[in-house]
Amino acid sequence: MMPRQDLLDLSFPELEELLTSWGELAFRARQVWEWTWRHLACGFADMTNLPCALRDRLAETYRLGILTPAARQGDPEEGTEKVLFAFPDGVAVEAVLMREDGRRTVCVSTQVGCPIGCAFCATGAMGYRRDLSAGEIAGQVLHFARELRARGEQVTHVVVMGMGEPLLNYEATVKAIRNLNDRRGFGLGARRITVSTAGVVPGILRLSEEALQLNLAVSLHAPDDALRAELVPLAMRWPLADVLAAADAYARATGRRVTYEYVLLAGVNDGLDQARALARLLRGRLAHVNLIPFNPAPGLPFTRPDEAHVDAFRRELLRHGVDATVRRSRGVRILAGCGQLCSQRRPG
Ligand code: SAH
Ligand code: SF4
Repeated sequence: MMPRQDLLDLSFPELEELLTSWGELAFRARQVWEWTWRHLACGFADMTNLPCALRDRLAETYRLGILTPAARQGDPEEGTEKVLFAFPDGVAVEAVLMREDGRRTVCVSTQVGCPIGCAFCATGAMGYRRDLSAGEIAGQVLHFARELRARGEQVTHVVVMGMGEPLLNYEATVKAIRNLNDRRGFGLGARRITVSTAGVVPGILRLSEEALQLNLAVSLHAPDDALRAELVPLAMRWPLADVLAAADAYARATGRRVTYEYVLLAGVNDGLDQARALARLLRGRLAHVNLIPFNPAPGLPFTRPDEAHVDAFRRELLRHGVDATVRRSRGVRILAGCGQLCSQRRPG
């Protein structure tokens, strides 16, 4: 028997087309969409205002891609929770919920592993297995949304910063984002969604044409191509000049300030001369630097600079006219921090 398709893989127009092809009335698509994306139904049986025949037909051909954690790990003090989602083909990804004041941010994965292979990233070290589907990406958010709803809370932000390079899985990533953004259902504003890329130039250019007000974060990590090629291997296909030009195009098209991420690795890319070179590169741009002190993970040969040095690096950027902040480490104790996600290590 063919495995049933995931209803979460459909966009609203695709759902409409499907139901029309079944001879259903036009408003049924809206009802199914609302059950799925607004009421977060756990199954077709929940969709009580649909005719039984339609519910049965949906259940025969589709599944509602509900993801259930195969493992979970939390840091109660910090309010951070990491879950492992295992898929029927034997692969798995991790996703993280972060709580901060009123914010409830979900960090989602887009690929199983990652083909870019950054030298400082646990996901890169595990290699690349496959892309996630749009439903598998959005399903991670819906999982946490269900959990939060039970406590009267909701997901306020999504960061596409988990495992994988989102712009190398472009269609599924953008479809998942559009589905989460759709006001008829989940209704998460584009400005509350951030996509982080290692600098996939064609993807950035394409994203700037989507007419979506997403936040774009571009991982730089080095002020020159030679060092960047060592740290972000596959991304050397796109030199810094091209990455910056693409990010400028994104800023022009959306009016949004681009964030540049910079992992600080002691003795590798954290020199004050490197801060000045980075400032020269970014000065005059609609930009902001987010410094991420290295999060250690098993097998990664780097160390995190101490706090005083991180601050000195930040002040050097400010002194040279570039706005910069330091990302607070979240989830590090449960290996849920940036670059620590890896589905081959059993959590807990
Ligand atoms: N592939 C995308 C998004 C996922 S990684 C990208 O690279 O941008 C999200 C962020 O975590 C990136 O800026 C990445 O460089 C950073 N990161 C990776 N490994 C890290 C580590 N060990 N410590 C701190 N940040 C890390
Ligand atoms: Fe992939 Fe991003 Fe990790 Fe680099 S940092 S290996 S691009 S997930």
